[in-house]
Amino acid sequence: MGSYYLYSDLYRGIYRRYKNYWLELTKQNPQEIFTKPILHWWSEHGRKDLPWQKNKTPYRTWVSEIMLQQTQVKTVIPYFTKFISKFPKINDLANSEQSEVMSHWSGLGYYSRARNLHKAALIIKKDYGGIFPNKFDEILSLPGIGPSTAGAILSLNNIEPRAIMDGNVKRVLSRHFFIEGDLTKAGMLKKIWKLSERCTPETDFDIYTQAIMDLGATVCLPKKYKCDQCPVVKSCIAKKKNKIELIPQKKAKKQKRKIEYNFLVIRSEDSFLLEQRDANGIWPGLWSFPTLETDEKVESWIESNTGISKINYQNNIDSFTHSLSHIDIQINPVIIDISDSKVERLKKNMTFIKAQKINSIATSKAVKKIIDRL
Ligand code: SF4
Repeated sequence: MGSYYLYSDLYRGIYRRYKNYWLELTKQNPQEIFTKPILHWWSEHGRKDLPWQKNKTPYRTWVSEIMLQQTQVKTVIPYFTKFISKFPKINDLANSEQSEVMSHWSGLGYYSRARNLHKAALIIKKDYGGIFPNKFDEILSLPGIGPSTAGAILSLNNIEPRAIMDGNVKRVLSRHFFIEGDLTKAGMLKKIWKLSERCTPETDFDIYTQAIMDLGATVCLPKKYKCDQCPVVKSCIAKKKNKIELIPQKKAKKQKRKIEYNFLVIRSEDSFLLEQRDANGIWPGLWSFPTLETDEKVESWIESNTGISKINYQNNIDSFTHSLSHIDIQINPVIIDISDSKVERLKKNMTFIKAQKINSIATSKAVKKIIDRL
């Protein structure tokens, strides 16, 4: 008994004396306390059936990574499947019209992603003979690809170990290693990138990259975190300090701008008048119902754009708020029937489209919401 206390006191003394050194050692070796347990965890608990994990190629990884930006996995799955069956190879994408690519993105939002995919496919066709480049800097130079996406493409395809930094990875790393502070600030971002690099192993980096994303997506969730199922719970500092919800630090939410538009839902028998929007502004390049400021006169707009002077208003459907990342738009649908009149003129960017075809062209979700409510 006496010797037990003697030795445990001795070890406690050594630990106290070398605590900082020990912590330093631990800090220097995140692969032991973090990477290895996560790799081990993935073999039993990781996701293995996502459509982009089958027949994996840099092209398929690229499309999935772009679709997954700001969008949930369950939303992306049907879009990815449809997109890849329409454009199975990079050259299929490059050889298509941008409008066709956009129509396969319709409803997924953040349409600049689709425009950049198409632009990048054209570059890959021209500069790399339709083969996805395999050098980090070449991938990074393509439109719409940042360091995390470039890293994911290389790592997940077992080409080169590269760190990644999406929302899930940021959350897991910052909680486990207790990185406080605003991760949008350049200095903090640099710090967490460095950590991500140190955690990325030299071998099995494809599995590790998938594993850390899976851990963030299924266990280390923003609010409903499941620490009891976490392979790194023993060394997680946020858990130890009971400060999980405070990490990563939330950005102060900016007040969104509010605007209001009248949407002219002009129907002629079973077709609707749609207008292709400018390349700039809200819903760039998408097809939309003609959109008027609330003080613009509906009758004058219709007369000057179609030559029709007599219109029938129909029962309106309720106004609703459509939220974009930076703006809340109140939309007032104004339903008008012109089936009895002859359209004398239309601008080049306007056309009548049958209701059942609207889902197959590139429109905003707001247009789809209205069609569903009619
Ligand atoms: S222990 Fe909890 S907070 Fe820490 S990494 Fe795991 S799930 Fe996240």
